[in-house]
Amino acid sequence: MTTYLIKGARTPGGDPTDLLLRDGLIVETGSISGSDAEVIDADGLIALPGLVDLHTHLREPGREDAETVETGSRAAALGGFTAVCAMANTDPVADTAGVVEQVWRLGRDAGLVDVQPIGAVTVGLAGERLAELGAMAESAAAVRIFSDDGHCVHDPRLMRRALEYVRAFDGVIAQHAEEPRLTQGAQMHEGVESARLGMTGWPAVAEEAIIARDVLLAEHVGARLHICHVSTAGSVEILRWAKKRGIRVTAEVTPHHLLLTDEKAGGYDPVFKVNPPLRTNEDVAALRLGLADGTIDVVATDHAPHALQDKECEWAYARPGMVGLETALSVVVATMLETGLMDWAGLVDRMSRVPARIAGLTEHGNDLVAGAPANLTLVDPAVRWSVDPAASASRSRNTPYAGLTLPSRVVATFLRGVPTVLEGKAVR
Ligand SMILES: [Zn+2]
Repeated sequence: MTTYLIKGARTPGGDPTDLLLRDGLIVETGSISGSDAEVIDADGLIALPGLVDLHTHLREPGREDAETVETGSRAAALGGFTAVCAMANTDPVADTAGVVEQVWRLGRDAGLVDVQPIGAVTVGLAGERLAELGAMAESAAAVRIFSDDGHCVHDPRLMRRALEYVRAFDGVIAQHAEEPRLTQGAQMHEGVESARLGMTGWPAVAEEAIIARDVLLAEHVGARLHICHVSTAGSVEILRWAKKRGIRVTAEVTPHHLLLTDEKAGGYDPVFKVNPPLRTNEDVAALRLGLADGTIDVVATDHAPHALQDKECEWAYARPGMVGLETALSVVVATMLETGLMDWAGLVDRMSRVPARIAGLTEHGNDLVAGAPANLTLVDPAVRWSVDPAASASRSRNTPYAGLTLPSRVVATFLRGVPTVLEGKAVR
């Protein structure tokens, strides 16, 4: 195995340092010379622990025309990630030990990021009976996060049972908070814009009502709850209240909800159709503040690749979702760092350390010190780049940022000391 010497990388809040990577570990830091290692000049670059995504759709098994574990892993590595959690809404659904082990093996074989499968909460995501949570937890994939994402676990009795079940092994239920009776036929955020465009609205209360219910259930049961893709100002308020009360709830926000608003629907370009929908300027401001003050714990991409025919059609028929792995870091820099709301240490917290802790991925999200696993990424903070959908490593092209100029770019990523990205390009 090649030994790498990273020379002169800045670390968030620290002095420039050299990092010697050998046998999967960071073996030495500080000023290092006289090594026979392969040298990587990191002058001007920032070294971060590898990013961790709690919410990735890899589409395999079932929709390999949209993404595979391998292509999604490559996109993740290019985005600076060393671990991703793969959502369960595949075909077949990841609701058994067999399917989660299949996804876990595909991830290991691709070897570009650690792929940690998320198990479904209910059989077939149908919301009727609990899936075999225990069998998935005990499988080779050692599932700790369970989610019906794409669907809400809307039956409160089932949600309570799921929370009780995972409490035994410190698992967590990740809820897609959407009261389905309030969003039937919804196409976009319910508000001034939906009224103007004549589209059926997805009201903020449909998210907020489920979050309010579920933090109370989590408190009652004493179990861990995670809220996927929080999108409204009201949701941030409920989470703030719940955390003050000591309820074991964590939450994520997506890069697109930090940057884009429902005004994008005005052009009827389905690339902006997403669930939960893009909200208002007030919501965006509240989400940014919530992320800055820690009410929202992490940024998660909700990377949702879709094949061309599922996206390039009339708005009403288009599938909701956007790709996001390769742009997440840059969007967070643009919305949180360039606005002065957060610094690089905060970004490391929200995109690496805390998501790793929530997912129980102990090899990720660690400080870059001697003895730590060599899972890290090097970022050039000086570069600005234009998003070109055709240049993406993802098999899908549904990025909402096409043509947009974004700050900061990943130059290199290492998974256990092995480069997955060098000079901004995937190694394989
Ligand atoms: Zn979702």
